[in-house]
Amino acid sequence: MDNKPKSREEIFKILDKYQEKDMNYSEGRILGSMCTESESIAQSVFYKFINSNLGDPGLFKGTKIIEDHAIKLIGSLLSIDNPYGHIVTGGTEANLMAMRAARNYARKYKNINNSEIIIPKSAHFSFKKAADIFGLKIVEADMREDYKIDVSSLESKITKNTVAIVAIAGTTELGLVDSIDKISEIAKRNNIYLHVDAAFGGFIIPFLKDAGYDFPEFDFSLEGVCSMTIDPHKMGLSTIPSGCILFRDKKYLDVMVVESPYLTKKKQSTIVGTRNGASAAATYAVMEYMGREGYTKFALEAMEKTNTLKEGLLKMGYEIVTEPELNIIAFTHPNIDVNHLAYLLEEKNWRVSISAYPKAIRIVIMRHVTLDNIKEFLADLKCIADNF
Ligand SMILES: *Cc1c(COP(=O)(O)O)cnc(C)c1O
Repeated sequence: MDNKPKSREEIFKILDKYQEKDMNYSEGRILGSMCTESESIAQSVFYKFINSNLGDPGLFKGTKIIEDHAIKLIGSLLSIDNPYGHIVTGGTEANLMAMRAARNYARKYKNINNSEIIIPKSAHFSFKKAADIFGLKIVEADMREDYKIDVSSLESKITKNTVAIVAIAGTTELGLVDSIDKISEIAKRNNIYLHVDAAFGGFIIPFLKDAGYDFPEFDFSLEGVCSMTIDPHKMGLSTIPSGCILFRDKKYLDVMVVESPYLTKKKQSTIVGTRNGASAAATYAVMEYMGREGYTKFALEAMEKTNTLKEGLLKMGYEIVTEPELNIIAFTHPNIDVNHLAYLLEEKNWRVSISAYPKAIRIVIMRHVTLDNIKEFLADLKCIADNF
């Protein structure tokens, strides 16, 4: 750092130079991201609450009320009237909190000390972080041929040390929804904590259901579900960083409590200490602004675009990995290697991602991806296939 302060102009000039290198969602070339440009009201509200610290809620009583409202609103999407939880930085932190709660609960009330968690192969990598941080052993349940969790494999992996089962509503790679109703029954029968990771699916499945789409129950309406992750900064159109963890019962927050002596509130269950209130306010604002109606419209548009992409791919000889359930589609070409295809697309200035299991080009149709972008993308794919 220099001794001499720089002017605002100087600093912005430097930053602009770097920001120019960033991609912009609005260009419509980012096809592999689960995030998108947030709604403008979320951005304004985020800035308005930029200095509020929910780590010290006695000083920011109003922001704390807003967080509670946001939690309640999100609960209403997931069939729970009085959820307990927090707006956090994202799905990762939410999953960390859930795994910490499950471990602590089993340690306190079931005397389990060698904790194991059962997760599907399709689980997000954040569970590996949770396992590492909290000393959990990961046990992977097999997948069926349709890339959903094999429920009987899951049940066979339960041991006396199992502290949590994880199911997914909207897998990161393929956007699939596990048979959570069956998993909930297993969790209940075996008296094991069930966490549902709906980081991606939580802000679209309820709205597609409203519009008549058929999904099995996946949320707190199932008695076995103890906690859920849902990300406002993905399909919720809130600002980054906005995740959310909801618990059915306060006891799961209580088992994580540590004393926070120098703060206005003397107990804390969150992983982080100082944490922004801006995310909570932005999330509350965007939810009120969109309403169920706004999100439903947006969800239907996303599915329509996904369907257009699917039809186009099939017409040109590309193969889809599985029928998309949400706005994520994975595909391959019978004669072109996946990495090479990704490279060719990158040369045409598309940014796609590659799924690991199975290996395929993975496209997430977020709001910034327009129908025109999809048509252009299909034209490039046709060109690639024709010239290969
Ligand atoms: C994106 C995602 C996460 C991680 O969320 P971050 O906000 O990136 O931390 C966790 N689980 C699922 C299913 C996801 O799709």
